[in-house]
Amino acid sequence: MKNIIIFGAPGSGKGTYSDEIVARYGMGHISTGDVLRAEIKNGTELGKLAKGIIDKGQLIPDDLMIDILAKVYDEQEPGKGVIFDGFPRTIAQAEALKKMLAERGHEMGNMIELIVDEETLMARLLNRAKEQGRADDNEETIKARFDVYHKQTEPLAEWFGKEGIRHTFTWKGDKEIMLKEIFDFLDK
Ligand code: ATP
Ligand code: MG
Repeated sequence: MKNIIIFGAPGSGKGTYSDEIVARYGMGHISTGDVLRAEIKNGTELGKLAKGIIDKGQLIPDDLMIDILAKVYDEQEPGKGVIFDGFPRTIAQAEALKKMLAERGHEMGNMIELIVDEETLMARLLNRAKEQGRADDNEETIKARFDVYHKQTEPLAEWFGKEGIRHTFTWKGDKEIMLKEIFDFLDK
């Protein structure tokens, strides 16, 4: 399986669809948000730094994030392909990912972009706050995350377009429909 980059706003379902894709195709899954939350839980130096940034809805500095990503990537089982979930989030991260993979003779694969209206995103994140209690799922931090997304991450969609690997899927109110569209594409 080729690598996949799953891309979208906070709450767009990157983690949810990644799990479904992993179950169907048996590839690896790197969620940089999960990696950082594990560091916080374990009370590491990185975790302490990350917590202050995540709780404000801001991004971890690119250099640090790029190093973490390369390390986690090299721990994956070779040859199975990986889903990158939550990375890259800036143009610098995207350029670094492309370079890191090229150095290993690998490719970025396909980018899957999830488009979901902001009202749905907010409702999902507030609901997740109740279910999972993530510290950054409160209205104020969510708004900051949307803002960061629009300014720093969304412009990347076009970058992927220029790379010729951008594939867009738009939410039509039903998870099964979205999933079928994604699977139909990946099955090819
Ligand atoms: P969702 O998981 O619902 O799609 P999200 O995209 O906001 O929402 P995560 O991907 O789990 O959530 O990321 C949570 C936080 O971790 C981000 O707001 C950011 O502070 C930090 N983070 C995760 N990935 C990166 C990254 N690639 N670069 C910088 N910061 C990151
Ligand atoms: Mg996630």
